[in-house]
Amino acid sequence: MKINTKLLHDYPMIDPVTGASSIPKYQASTFHQQDVFTHTGFSYTRFGNPTVEAAEKCIASLEDATFGLAFSSGMAAINAVLFLLSKGDHLVLGKNIYGGTFHSIHLFLSRFGIDCTFVDETDNGSWEKAIKKETKMFYIETPSNPLLTITDIKKVAETARKHGILTVSDNTFMSPLSQHPLSLGVDIVIHSATKFINGHSDVVAGLVATNQEAIYKKLKEHQIALGGILGPEDAWLLLRGVKTMGLRMEKSIKNASKIATFPSEHTKVKKVYYPGLAQHPGYQVHHQQCENSGAILSFELETVDQIQSLFTNCRLPIVAVSLGGVESILSYPWAMSHASMPEEERLKMGVTETLVRLSCGIEDEEDLLNDLTRALG
Ligand SMILES: *Cc1c(COP(=O)(O)O)cnc(C)c1O
Repeated sequence: MKINTKLLHDYPMIDPVTGASSIPKYQASTFHQQDVFTHTGFSYTRFGNPTVEAAEKCIASLEDATFGLAFSSGMAAINAVLFLLSKGDHLVLGKNIYGGTFHSIHLFLSRFGIDCTFVDETDNGSWEKAIKKETKMFYIETPSNPLLTITDIKKVAETARKHGILTVSDNTFMSPLSQHPLSLGVDIVIHSATKFINGHSDVVAGLVATNQEAIYKKLKEHQIALGGILGPEDAWLLLRGVKTMGLRMEKSIKNASKIATFPSEHTKVKKVYYPGLAQHPGYQVHHQQCENSGAILSFELETVDQIQSLFTNCRLPIVAVSLGGVESILSYPWAMSHASMPEEERLKMGVTETLVRLSCGIEDEEDLLNDLTRALG
């Protein structure tokens, strides 16, 4: 089955009891047992819920994985995965990881005696060089946020495997529609389903997929013990949103590739970051491992005044954190997604005071282009 058909048919879509064309919201915390020793397979919603289980089977299908897990947010999913590490372990990450992940690592891992090394993710050799005998996990995110740097998933996973290290990939930016890290040797894939998977800026959710039963069992334990489970209502909304992901992504990607060529013609734009542009340093690697260029681009203006003017005068993209919605979202990483990172770290990774990120929605591209031109003018 191909991906657009899978979105509609390859996981529980029909209620087994009534035949309803959508899995109902099983809005229940607990499940009645006919006798004390047997239950229906569901006992308490933190341990499992039919609506949530449908979302878990959905991500497993989309990532061609054996197992899926749903969490209350992308961060809950990320932290459940980071809990695979123990005191004394060492973790290697790309230096351009999501701000929230960076924050969580600094907040918790050092307190738990877990050591981290950040590497230039685009340099395959830097991953190997960072390995110590305690290294247990590589953590990658490609394209990265917000500069769209590209990590060679296959090469990094190969290096990890050679040394018995787990590879984890945050696949949020490409969605399970066009990039499949598990097929490139990654052990665990994470999504903030808040973004493209749900796609309507109305749910916060996280998803995980893996082919390895031992990892799944541990993560299931973490899900139950840490308690970051997805609620039935949000699982239901997510299941509704995911059905149109194919169509949504197609239009968003088309808009992004059009808009990516626009700012370079515009004098106020110093630089565009988009893996669909041939001059992007990761162009080749990205297109080897991914089917398209994605729906997100960033660009650098010349002055903070221009930033002010753009954000005040644009009318179509909503000005907000987040990405992956049906509406275009314009954000300012310096003061939004990366605000929790020390200034020095932000500058080191290239998140400057004049950088803008645009997540393209499904509006008509002429309207988006006109709006940006006017706001920049
Ligand atoms: C948004 C995001 C997250 C965090 O997800 P939440 O659902 O907000 O917790 C993690 N990684 C990436 C790449 C993201 O864009």
